[in-house]
Amino acid sequence: MTARARGDMPPEEFEEHGRRAVAWIADYLAHPERFPVLARVAPGQIREALPAQPPARGEPMEAILADVERLVLPGITHWNHPSFFAYFAITGSGPGILGELLTAALNVNGMLWKTSPAATELEEAVLDWLRQMVGLPEGFMGIIMDTASVASLCAIAAAREAVSEHRFRDEGAAGGPRLRLYASEQAHSSIEKAAIVLGIGRAGLRKIPVDDAFRMDPQALRRAIAEDRRAGWRPFCVVATVGTTSTTSVDPLPAIAAICEAEGLWLHVDAAYAGIAAIAPEFRWALAGAEAADSVVINPHKWLFTPLDCSAFYCRRPDVLRAAFSLVPEYLRTAEAERTAVRDLMDYGVQLGRRFRALKLWMVIRYFGWEGLAARIREHVRLGQALAAWIDDDPLFERLAPTPFSTVCFRARPPGLDEEALDRLNASLLDAVNASGEAYLSHTRLQGRYALRVAIGNIRTEERHVHAVWELIRATLRRLQPAA
Ligand code: PLP
Repeated sequence: MTARARGDMPPEEFEEHGRRAVAWIADYLAHPERFPVLARVAPGQIREALPAQPPARGEPMEAILADVERLVLPGITHWNHPSFFAYFAITGSGPGILGELLTAALNVNGMLWKTSPAATELEEAVLDWLRQMVGLPEGFMGIIMDTASVASLCAIAAAREAVSEHRFRDEGAAGGPRLRLYASEQAHSSIEKAAIVLGIGRAGLRKIPVDDAFRMDPQALRRAIAEDRRAGWRPFCVVATVGTTSTTSVDPLPAIAAICEAEGLWLHVDAAYAGIAAIAPEFRWALAGAEAADSVVINPHKWLFTPLDCSAFYCRRPDVLRAAFSLVPEYLRTAEAERTAVRDLMDYGVQLGRRFRALKLWMVIRYFGWEGLAARIREHVRLGQALAAWIDDDPLFERLAPTPFSTVCFRARPPGLDEEALDRLNASLLDAVNASGEAYLSHTRLQGRYALRVAIGNIRTEERHVHAVWELIRATLRRLQPAA
């Protein structure tokens, strides 16, 4: 039997390749601009280049790492690139990446307190820090989920558990009331997915109209609830959004919270994106009213420089959340959970196995500090506002939504084109800008119009990058529309 037939990579080899890998990462993060932002590969191209069969014998690490560069990197869209402006631009920062490395090395499963007390207690402590940073009051229990989609699913499951006249958990939906869930027309698709998964069904989600700034209309919510009650529905939960996906609009939480209070409905706040802004005192307003919510989700992996995945879920009624999910088979029972106040985090969601995600978040918050994080968010908002002002000053462009934070929705609007032609022009503009490899934007549709979307949130994005993308957009428009 050869030395490689048993056991792990020898420690000396690990150290040698580890040093090289870290050096490679440092160099990559120093110069992400040397790659086109958007991967330039055809569908299937990467798959074709990869061997179809697994290697029968182990291969040297040099060969594997060389293939990462040769085969994998060409198919990478560089979210680390400072001119990545699509979707919500996110980045893992140095301390976050190191935290992720340590998490992989420790490889603990934090399902029970006992299976790694530090994983549970650090998670409790760091989520309490984040709670304080965004200005949520005491009394919210924090737990890390992989994504906001899963956090919202858990929130809505808890809301359903709080419906007292039927035991959904034990009986299933059959024989129970027809549940109605409310969210705005601009709410994220994860809410609709949660309705599908939880058996509420897409018909059980009522989408509430929004105002001109894409915020939920609370009067329309109130009317919808009354109408539904008369029609025999059982309203049970409202999802308000702080930072909608298209335009980062903030639903009027205080008015919505008052309705939930009066109607006895669970209020879940999806603050996946903009909840992070509340770290800076001048953006605290975004979460005003969330103190009355039953649950709130905020994503450190979106705008807090923490590598994917890390979503902070807060619940003011942890007992209800626990009642919705806890199911403890014999082999997971521990004396600590039964006799002391320790929390087994598996009891508060779907998954059993849990990664030690708190470590990277703890390292990010410690390394940058509350003020350092707020300063970075503030700068992104400043850049977003600067871009919005440049757009407003250019007669060939128009903004299609207010810009509360650092995401700008707009379109080119040269004279003489009807709405259909404008849609086509802006879609071509997006494609041409993205094909340049110099920047990556995404799009949305607002009041029927095709809108370009520039989201600023990357830790390495500076004013020069925002200025360059704006010049690129203008030059591309001139090329597509020489008469403009
Ligand atoms: N909620 C909002 C408002 C979002 O914008 C997004 C994603 O962009 C999500 C939820 C989903 O986040 P995740 O990818 O963490 O599930």
